[in-house]
Amino acid sequence: MQEKNIWEVALKQFDNVAERLNLESYIREKLRRPNRVLTVNFPVRMDDGSIKMFEGYRVQYSLDRGPAKGGIRYHPKVTLDEVKALAMWMTWKCAVVNIPYGGGKGGVICNPRNMSMGELERLTRRFAIEIASFIGPQRDIPAPDVNTNPQTMAWIMDTYSTNVGYPVPGVITGKPVEIGGSEGRGEATARGCLFTILKACKFLGLPVKNSRVVIQGYGNAGYNMAKLIKGEGAKVIAVSDSGGGIYNEDGLDPEEVMRHKKETGSVVDFPGAKNVTNGDLLEIECEILVPAALEDQINESNVDRIKAKIVAEAANGPTTPGADKILLDRGIFLIPDILANAGGVTVSYFEWVQNLQAFYWKEEEVNRRLKEIMENSFDQVLEIFLREKDVDMRTAAYMLAVNRVAEAIRLRGIYP
Ligand code: NAD
Repeated sequence: MQEKNIWEVALKQFDNVAERLNLESYIREKLRRPNRVLTVNFPVRMDDGSIKMFEGYRVQYSLDRGPAKGGIRYHPKVTLDEVKALAMWMTWKCAVVNIPYGGGKGGVICNPRNMSMGELERLTRRFAIEIASFIGPQRDIPAPDVNTNPQTMAWIMDTYSTNVGYPVPGVITGKPVEIGGSEGRGEATARGCLFTILKACKFLGLPVKNSRVVIQGYGNAGYNMAKLIKGEGAKVIAVSDSGGGIYNEDGLDPEEVMRHKKETGSVVDFPGAKNVTNGDLLEIECEILVPAALEDQINESNVDRIKAKIVAEAANGPTTPGADKILLDRGIFLIPDILANAGGVTVSYFEWVQNLQAFYWKEEEVNRRLKEIMENSFDQVLEIFLREKDVDMRTAAYMLAVNRVAEAIRLRGIYP
């Protein structure tokens, strides 16, 4: 999706940590490659009667700690390299929160903006069948990602189930609650991120109440974060979407902003707030900055002007490796993406567990277990951060995660 090759970035991040952990060379070589890669090309009948070919991918990066797990992305700029990088990151994300999964990811090159619901349904069902023998509740469990949603997951669940002849809710997560989705999945990423922010505030001695929060992106992660953190007494002073940002030093009402966005298509021009650009938004003075939109937002060109005390990465890859170092030098506390946004995959895991047991939990149960996992994981990463002294929180999280995967490889040994 981005100009820079994120596969190169992902490999570089891994190589640095492998070196620091002094990993055996065979483990290093194994983890520099995806375990399995499937490329599919398939036809879809369009509304005008024409037939169009599409290309899609499913990557099972690691099966060392459990079945592969990771979303499916629909975007015109999907590439195999991007899917490989995202699948590698899923491997570390599942390991950092210690849920029993490897890592995977999928994608289809398409432009959902130009497709009707019928076309999207036919594309989804055909892609599901193309990857059906590759995925499964014990093998590889996809989930939503950019431009896919609970409806997409419902079509995949239905297609897979119809073909095997019985319902298999556990083949996919992020489903609607009515067909086996989990309570709490919708807010899970933001809620998980909030738990890590509360922990960071405690560590830094920063009161959450009345702290100023800036959020980039007003979708699932950003909007829910605004609502939840306001509930903790913080002031959400600026938010943005792809149209631009808005700022009010006295605080914004997240629900009212969402109402305005639904009516007008953007948060921009919200009554009583000042319009700002997405670039300016990142540089507003605040205690907590939450990038919740895209990759490559905090980079070497703007990192010097970031004035937050905490950067909590609800988005995947919002900070470049060059900017990481500067944030550390400037004493800005980073909660890295593989930890900060792991609440989504954690509740996906809960969804899968509930599907396999055919026994469903109340939302309080989901949130309680999520809190426990996020807080424990934060503590474990912080412990490495404090012990190692010269690493940032991202490297600490990677060290925890890569170690767990490496240990699984050692214990399982080499077959035959
Ligand atoms: P979403 O599509 O619901 O929302 C994305 C938001 O970002 C939208 O408001 C969009 O307008 C905005 N946006 C797009 N381009 C922008 C730009 N240039 N500047 C500012 N805002 C822009 O997506 P989401 O599910 O909220 O995901 C956001 C990020 O969080 C992604 O990086 C995603 O990978 C990550 N994430 C999401 C989940 C989840 O469960 N939803 C889990 C883990 C990670």
